[in-house]
Amino acid sequence: MKIKERYIWLVCTKCSSRNYTTHKRQKAAYKLEKKKFCRFCREHTSHKERKL
Ligand SMILES: [Zn+2]
Repeated sequence: MKIKERYIWLVCTKCSSRNYTTHKRQKAAYKLEKKKFCRFCREHTSHKERKL
């Protein structure tokens, strides 16, 4: 079975830089939010998804 996935950006909520790409299932209803290291803020910040 094929699972359709789409790619998204993970965007720093502090400086809005697009630091990571990831993917999730196309029909997933949840919004991704992850703690990631931002090399521009030089600290761990929460990153939100944004369309690629
Ligand atoms: Zn940042």
